[in-house]
Amino acid sequence: MADIAQTISELRGVLPEGARLVAVSKYHPVEKVAEALAAGQTLFGESQAQELVRKHEYFRHCSPQPEWHFIGHLQTNKVKYIAPFVTMIESVDSERLLAEIDRQAERWGRVVDVLLELHVAQEQTKAGLTVDECHALLDSGVKVRYKHVRICGLMTMATYTDDETLIAREFQSAYDCFNELKTKHFPNDDYFCERSWGMSDDYPIALQHGATLVRIGSKIFGERA
Ligand SMILES: *Cc1c(COP(=O)(O)O)cnc(C)c1O
Repeated sequence: MADIAQTISELRGVLPEGARLVAVSKYHPVEKVAEALAAGQTLFGESQAQELVRKHEYFRHCSPQPEWHFIGHLQTNKVKYIAPFVTMIESVDSERLLAEIDRQAERWGRVVDVLLELHVAQEQTKAGLTVDECHALLDSGVKVRYKHVRICGLMTMATYTDDETLIAREFQSAYDCFNELKTKHFPNDDYFCERSWGMSDDYPIALQHGATLVRIGSKIFGERA
């Protein structure tokens, strides 16, 4: 395992202009997050509300402070714990969740950035909205209904496979969906610009298909416990 700072600097070297690295620190101890912070990495991803709250508390008096993206399945009853500080919730897969984020963000006087999670993979177990469901959600007027969330783009995960052609096709269909939604619902909204795809094993393919956020965990921090 190469060291954390070195891997982060190598990844920065391959990221095109405009793409950002989300260092996925889930299940890793705060010491590893501190190492990444010291290497200048400030954007982190977590997938469990309690763990995110714990790490946020730990680093809240640090400078610079980590910025946190929530990337896992989020139960509506957990939104209240992360709403005061989370930078982005990348995994919105229902209107019910969107409504609860809006409600909690309003309580804290915030506008919380979110991504819609799109399902493109072949595994049924993966979460997310279909392309049609994304369109239906936006057609129904959520953009004006919820004033305390800002929909900034899409997040997706490709099928877990060695078939790079399949992975490329899935990322491209996410990119196509992003472009359709952009044209139809956000043509003048510069904030609708994020395409979060690519993990440790498939980020090079994601970057060829328009990723602006790559969420990389094990390549930086090693295997999770
Ligand atoms: C865990 C996780 C990642 C990071 O996966 P690695 O293979 O460790 O890079 C990225 N995105 C999501 C949604 C995850 O849950």
